[in-house]
Amino acid sequence: MKIAIVSPEVFPFAKTGGLADVAGALPKEIAKLGHDVKVILPFYKTIDEKNLSLKNLNLQMPELPVASNKVKVKLKSLDNKESTVEFLFLDYKPFYNRENLYIDPKSGKDYQDNDERFILFSKGVIEILKSLDWSPDIIHCNDWQSALIPAYLKTIYAGDSFFKNTATVFSIHNIAYQGIFPKESFKKIGVAENLFYPISPFEFWGKVNFMKAGIIYADVINTVSEKYKEEIQKSSDFGYGLEGVLSSRGTDLYGILNGIDYSEWSPENDKYIPFKYSFKDLSGKEKNKKELLSNCGFPKGKKDIPLIGIISRLADQKGFDLLEKIGDEILSLNLRIVLLGTGELKYHDYFLGLERKYPEKIKVNLTFDNPLAHLIEAGSDMFLMPSKYEPCGLNQLYSLKYGTIPIVRETGGLADTIQDFNPKTKKGTGFVFKNYDPDELLDAIKGALKVYQDKKLWKKIMLSGMAKDFSWESSAKKYVELYKAALEKTGTLQRSK
Ligand code: ADP
Repeated sequence: MKIAIVSPEVFPFAKTGGLADVAGALPKEIAKLGHDVKVILPFYKTIDEKNLSLKNLNLQMPELPVASNKVKVKLKSLDNKESTVEFLFLDYKPFYNRENLYIDPKSGKDYQDNDERFILFSKGVIEILKSLDWSPDIIHCNDWQSALIPAYLKTIYAGDSFFKNTATVFSIHNIAYQGIFPKESFKKIGVAENLFYPISPFEFWGKVNFMKAGIIYADVINTVSEKYKEEIQKSSDFGYGLEGVLSSRGTDLYGILNGIDYSEWSPENDKYIPFKYSFKDLSGKEKNKKELLSNCGFPKGKKDIPLIGIISRLADQKGFDLLEKIGDEILSLNLRIVLLGTGELKYHDYFLGLERKYPEKIKVNLTFDNPLAHLIEAGSDMFLMPSKYEPCGLNQLYSLKYGTIPIVRETGGLADTIQDFNPKTKKGTGFVFKNYDPDELLDAIKGALKVYQDKKLWKKIMLSGMAKDFSWESSAKKYVELYKAALEKTGTLQRSK
């Protein structure tokens, strides 16, 4: 199959969260299965042009409408000898050559023209494929920033023979971010005006909703764990108003767990950690812990104090309002915490306040720092993810591989991947609490601290986590099945049989 994977972020070029890791790793695995894969993303300022071998492709592309103007976009391609995947970058400086991907650093809020930025991206992708004369079997779109592509193919481009055998797949990585804009944005999309009316595919409580259009127009849809797939259809707590739309497409909605790129994330060959270690020889882990403690500026001491790592966007989703309620109780326990994260300013303030109050117990790093993220995974004893909801979650999976025992809430991908430790059977890979309740979180932390004292048992739990395999191989095969299901839906597969 010829597969175009479209994503607003792709590791190692541009990353704000787990989607980038997925869009960086999945295409390589799909290509390994014998498919022809191109990945398309915007050319952001953050992309490290100097250290990449990029070439400009001179394409005959039409000018594209942006609001009332027409603009010319450019296309860059990565000269990549390591992989058969072709990475393409849509370049339009006024839109993408900015400090951040989505958020204006001045206001801390979304860029005001995010509607225009991702309308241009979606239209641009379609026109790029035509200009390359590369007619894909599948366009695999990810999150709201590329959700208009399925809508375009079923409206403006419906009669275009170039796409007559193309099916679309839409992946939801987080349904709380839908791309909702005022109704005035609808005109900018450029589809027929009569497509905006109450409960139309683009309309959402009087506003425009890009993700809703993606869900309705894509041939098949998926999200990134089985449990999250169920949750987002059931209630507005998870579906954020799209639960009805999702359940109306329930038969075309799939759950495929994200995989892990173990070439980036495993303690045997992690290029960011000073001491490598493995399932067979854990001795490096203790040394990484010492390194992490001293890097963070914790006071030196002989005592073995358990260290909890947190790496996260600082957003309500991740359970920080829960943590806020019991910060003092947690820090009165015999533990230390190292936090790495950026996000909502209220949490920046909160954690800085905690650090001032308990300087010997918590160290706070309010930056985005990939090498430090790796060292925290390697050097911590436990990893905390008390999420309110979690589509899949990657850090708990990295933690398993690094022998860093996850403490998580039983939701979405966390529920699907971490087995609660059972003191009777002595089986499990982490500590899981059920309800979104501060006392339950505190109990889970206390439970983990208690078991930590039993070194033999602790090691057993570490090893059962390290033995788990969440590599992309099996998930990539499921995506290929999903692509086939999309082709079946459009009838293309029957025609070619
Ligand atoms: P989400 O996509 O919801 O943010 P995930 O757990 O799926 O959460 O993925 C988060 C990814 O982003 C992980 O690779 C994590 O290590 C990384 N990450 C998050 N915050 C930071 C940060 N401040 N510095 C470095 N990496 C980060």
